[in-house]
Parts: sequence; C-alpha cells; structure tokens
Amino acid sequence: MTPQIIDFSYLVAAVLFMLGLKKLSSPATARAGNRLSMLGMAIAVVSTLFKQEILSFNLILIGVAVGAAIGAVAAKKVKMSAVPEMIAMFNGCGGGASAMVAISEYHRLSPDFRIFLLVALLLSVVVGMVTFAGSIIAFGKLRGIISGRPVVYAGQRIGNGLLGVIVISLAVGVCFLPANFSIFYGLVSLALLLGVLLVIPIGGADMPVVISLLNSLSGVAVSMTGFVLGNNALIIVGSLVGAAGLILTRLMCEAMNRSLSNVLFGAFGAVEKAAAATGTAPAGAVKSYTIEDAVTMLENARALIIAPGYGMAMAQAQHTVRELADLLEERGVRVRYAIHPVAGRMPGHMNVLLAEANVPYDRLFAMEDINADFPHTDVALVVGANDVVNPAARNVPDSPIYGMPILNVDQAKTVIVLKRSMRPGFAGIENELFLRDNTMMVFGDAKETLQKIIASIKD
Ligand code: NDP
Repeated sequence: MTPQIIDFSYLVAAVLFMLGLKKLSSPATARAGNRLSMLGMAIAVVSTLFKQEILSFNLILIGVAVGAAIGAVAAKKVKMSAVPEMIAMFNGCGGGASAMVAISEYHRLSPDFRIFLLVALLLSVVVGMVTFAGSIIAFGKLRGIISGRPVVYAGQRIGNGLLGVIVISLAVGVCFLPANFSIFYGLVSLALLLGVLLVIPIGGADMPVVISLLNSLSGVAVSMTGFVLGNNALIIVGSLVGAAGLILTRLMCEAMNRSLSNVLFGAFGAVEKAAAATGTAPAGAVKSYTIEDAVTMLENARALIIAPGYGMAMAQAQHTVRELADLLEERGVRVRYAIHPVAGRMPGHMNVLLAEANVPYDRLFAMEDINADFPHTDVALVVGANDVVNPAARNVPDSPIYGMPILNVDQAKTVIVLKRSMRPGFAGIENELFLRDNTMMVFGDAKETLQKIIASIKD
C-alpha cells in the first residue's frame, strides 16, 4: 500500500468513527453506530499493518485470532451489571498498551529525541500508566477483589499532590537527561503508584464516573502515542475517546449534582460520609399496601409512567415490567417510561435493560422531557428506584443530593413504589416520598411483585 492509500484509509476510518459516535447517541441507531465504528477500526488496523511491516503476517494473524477469541468470549459472557468492570479492563489495556509502546519507543530512539516527541512520549507513559493502574483498582473494586469502601488516611490529598509534583519533576528530569534509565523507570513506577493512590479513596459505587474519566485519559494516552509513532489514526481515535469520555463524565457529574473538580480532587468518599451524617429522618408513617391495592390503582389509571431504578436491574424485572405495560396498554392505559440519566449504576443502564426487553424506544422519555407530565399522570410506578425519585433533592438543602435533578414522580396522583424494604439507595439517605399520603409502598422483590400484579390483573 502506498502512503497515500494508507492515509486515505485512515481518513475513511476517522469518518466512520465520527458517524458511529453520532449514531450511538440514540438507542434506535446505536447498533448501527457500533457496526460503523467496528468497520472503521478494522480498516484502521489493517492499514496500519500494511504500513508498519513490523511482524510477519502469520504472527499478526495468530495475534488477531487469539485477541478476537478472548474478546468475543468475554463480551458474550459478561453480565449486563458487569459491563462497567469490563470497560475498566478495556481502559486499563488501552492505557497500558499506549505506555508500553511509548516505553519501547524510548528505548529505540534513546538518547536522540526531538523535544516535542519526547514530551509526547512522556505524556503517553505517565497518562497511560496512571490509567492502567487506576483502571485495575477500579476493576478490583467493582469485582469485589479489593474492598469497595473508600480507603482514606490522614494527609492523603497532600501526599497525592506531592507525588504528582515528583512525577512532573521526574518527567522534566528525563527531558534534560534522556539517556538516564533510572530517572525514566522511576517515573514509570511512580506514575503507576499515582494511579493506584488516586483511585483507592473512591467508593466502589462511584466507580462508573471514575471509569468514564479513565476512559477519557486512555484516549489522551493513545493520542500521545499517535504523535510518538507519527500515526494519524491513533491521534484521531485517541482524541475522540478523550473528548467522548470527558463529555460523558461531565454529563454524569451534572446528573449526580457534582462538579468535575469535585470528581478530580477525590471528594467521592466524603460524599458517602456526608450522606451518613444527614440523619434527619422525614416525618410520617410507612403504609404498606397489598398487591390488590396496586392492581385496583393500575386498572383504573388512564396514564401511567414507569420510573425504573437500580432495583429493577437487581431483580432483573425488565421483562416483567414490559409484560405489565403490554397488559395495561391492551386495556387502554397510556404507558410511558421515565429515564433518569444516572438511574442504576452505569450510564444508560435502564435504556439497555429496557431495550433488552424490547420496550419500544418511543415509550422511553428522558427526565427533562417527561417531568412536566407527572402532575397529569394517574399513577407513577417506581420499580426499584430510590435516589432518583427522592424529593429531598428539591426540599432538603443539607441533603447530599440537594440540587440533583430528579424524576418528579411525587407529583403524580398516586405513586406505587416497588422495593423490598425501607433500606436507602446508593446515597444512603431516607426518602420522604415513601411516607407521603399519595404513595403506596408494595414491599417485595420487584420481579415477584410484578408477576403477582400481572397474575391478578389477568384473573
Ligand atoms: P438507588 O441505589 O437509589 O436505589 C435502588 C433501590 O432498589 C434500593 O433502595 C433498593 O431498596 C431497591 N432494590 C434493590 N434490589 C431490589 C429488588 N430485587 N427488588 C426491588 N427493589 C430492589 O437507585 P436509583 O436507580 O434510584 O439511583 C441510582 C443511584 O446510583 C444514584 O444515587 C446515582 O447517583 C448513583 N450512581 C449512578 C451511576 C450511573 O451511572 N447510573 C453511577 C454511580 C452512581 P431495597 O433494598 O429496600 O429493596
């Protein structure tokens, strides 16, 4: 292949990546977006192999076969709830691979570096190693291999800040003494340590935000490696990943009512403490209702909005939710779904589960598009959601979730809540919604309760 054809292939791949990303923004086109991006990646990889001529094609094909087999089995076997940890692993591999390529380039070129190239190389090593180590810790926390609790100790932030300064100083040192392997490998080791120390203070349940941020960092590392190798495809892909990861992080922060600096400076552990400290229990008594009570309300409703949350994922109740919706629609009830951006434990969690249950996309409404409709709705059915429907976000200024946008289910005429107990959700705080006069608590596993409701309606 001539360099012109290779560059043209990279251009085609880049366009496919951008179109793919665009299509990923809607559930209706997401699969097509994924396919376009896969095609782009295949074109970029094949073109690169022709360009580099580094290994024999036999070896490359063996590598491709082994990698594809591992990837395919892992992707098939992974449970929906384990997707964040799989992404953490992918990010770690991306960051680690970028750093390894940069390290090998360091040895190949040493000591004759152009300064621009050396700076890109060092950024790739540092960002790649931080991403690798941070992602491994994030994976371990989500998997339960290491404790998901925030690991905090006195002087942690100052210590991390100092370590950051030492890492930068070592990187400057390499610029002045590029042939000194000790300084270089000191930098590699401390970057790894920094990755570990930055992520351990963060609680396991907050990992999806951290993973999104690490995803962005892995993109930066890949992009820097692109500069080192003079590879346009890597520069473009890395920039896209970096930007997309950062945008997702920002959206998640906004939906959780946290600033990006709050995320960057590791205040996550503190949030859980603050949540525990806010012990002011809302006034009122819990009223437990029966399946029949819920059935009566649902059968008499003309408009129903279902608000799913993490409990729906835990109960794997998405298919049963859809069955109930179908049944009620047959009886003339208008059924819609209200999707909070951080319901569940990963971005798009509810969309993915409901898509798996073949809920039509046009029934799913983003929070901002449906919130105004709750006051005109007969029944809001809350399936295992808690924080994302907690009115404390509007009413209780000292609540850790104060200011977070929520689904206004409490404004519906009747709210039916399906959960197992009065235990709090992720934020660890009480929910006054459960005590309100227009709320009916139906306790039990969401899937079992829904099955009983369906059976009763059919009877
Ligand atoms: P919550 O964690 O607030 O509440 C989930 C509720 O589900 C619990 O109160 C639990 O109550 C109930 N539940 C658990 N299992 C079952 C079951 N089998 N059947 C019925 N109910 C069940 O979830 P939300 O979705 O409302 O909120 C998500 C939270 O996660 C937010 O605070 C968000 O900020 C946070 N978060 C979200 C991320 C994302 O990307 N989506 C990332 C990180 C954090 P009980 O035990 O009584 O049944």
